[in-house]
Amino acid sequence: MSNIDFEFDKLHEECGVFGIYSHKDEVALNTYWGLYALQHRGQESTGIVVSDGNDMQIRKGMGLVPEVFKDGVGDMIGHIAIGHVRYSTTGASMPYNVQPLKVYFDGGNLALSHNGNLVNAAELRTKLTRDGVVFQTTVDTEVVLSLIARSRKEKIEDRVSEAVNQIKGAFALLIMDDNKLIAVRDSFGFRPLCLGRLDNGWVVSSESCSLDLVGAEFVRDVKPGEMLIIEDSEKEPTSIMWAEEMPAKSAHCIFEYVYFARTDSVIDNQSVYQARINMGRELAKETKDINPDIVISVPDSGTAAAVGYSLEAGIPFLEGLTKNRYIGRTFIQPTQKQRQNAVRLKLNAVKSVVEGKSVVMVDDSIVRGTTSGKIVKLLKDAGAREVHVCISSPPVTDPCYYGIDTSVRKELIASTHTEEEVREYIGADTLHYISLDGLKRSIDKMDPEGMCYACFNAAYPDDAEAVIRQGSKYIFEGKK
Ligand code: SF4
Repeated sequence: MSNIDFEFDKLHEECGVFGIYSHKDEVALNTYWGLYALQHRGQESTGIVVSDGNDMQIRKGMGLVPEVFKDGVGDMIGHIAIGHVRYSTTGASMPYNVQPLKVYFDGGNLALSHNGNLVNAAELRTKLTRDGVVFQTTVDTEVVLSLIARSRKEKIEDRVSEAVNQIKGAFALLIMDDNKLIAVRDSFGFRPLCLGRLDNGWVVSSESCSLDLVGAEFVRDVKPGEMLIIEDSEKEPTSIMWAEEMPAKSAHCIFEYVYFARTDSVIDNQSVYQARINMGRELAKETKDINPDIVISVPDSGTAAAVGYSLEAGIPFLEGLTKNRYIGRTFIQPTQKQRQNAVRLKLNAVKSVVEGKSVVMVDDSIVRGTTSGKIVKLLKDAGAREVHVCISSPPVTDPCYYGIDTSVRKELIASTHTEEEVREYIGADTLHYISLDGLKRSIDKMDPEGMCYACFNAAYPDDAEAVIRQGSKYIFEGKK
């Protein structure tokens, strides 16, 4: 058996975080369910930490939620828990990098889960290392833990505030000591984080879809630059605006709405499903010159946008591609001949739907361009007369430094090829990416100017590339 990555050509979210404070609910079990609902945000590793006020129990490992917790969580007793699912971007996919991270410091136990990416982690890490700090992982998150532990402030929330004012980049953080659960969102609000209410307790989560599963009621999103301190099952969380300097505008990640988040989540007041329907409608308005017979999606990521296209254009939406949902992560190595057909292991065309038809195929993105061509070929081999590819994001031309796994510009096909070259490469009859204006119109419940679009236009909200270049200098100096 061997590991083969049959994941399609997508950007990958880095992580999902979930936390709970309750004296009545089974906090470990609820965290397990919460992480299950966030599994789409990370499939490489899983972990849960539970505190009973004196001790912290931690269990974590490589694999999906049910794999890591196959023996259950019944023995993890306490009233505070945080959990994490991870897809690695910073730091190798190794057991020592699995979150949550937990340490013992002069204030007792401390644990932390992080979704996002710190753009000045290299610089901070080098400085801390020069001060004699020893790191046990290669993830940027450990820098935050170290900054909190080294703070001279008395209260944990003041320590956290001092630490997060030193870090730059994207972070939705859940931090717990023996008695408190603290949720922190970066001042741009790159990554989502919301608060939910249990009958007797509180929940914080990357996405609202996980609240439904644990019976929590959505209360509100954590604001950019806000810290929530939860130390009582009944009392409202204490809110602190921690950022010494707030940016003029937020920079919520547009890709949460295009692809990352689950369609049943509502993030910063915007339904993810409705945003995707709107993107499909915009695509239909922008491609009036083609006259397809049917609209299909690349399941499941393109489905909501394909429905929107169908509604707007008045053309039927049909399932022209079928996805195999039962593929494990290891396979018997295919032969060279089988390799050419390997895409069919995951996806196959429905001949009776597409044969002889002019088809609009809607997908959310083309990143490296490695699979779109294979899918177009599947449709053509099944007899599709024309395949018009419509993409519900503009061309991805620039890397993301905020917790998404494209950090190398040259790997992005749209950064080195024109739209016509990409069309030719994937073998489509026509190719259309949604315009940036069309995408902005799709986010109809938010201020479109308060979003991050940097992977389409390199307009990094916090000058991330310059900060990272500076960090590289520190790494280099640190190695001398
Ligand atoms: S660069 Fe793109 S993927 Fe990264 S945070 Fe901004 S919009 Fe999201």
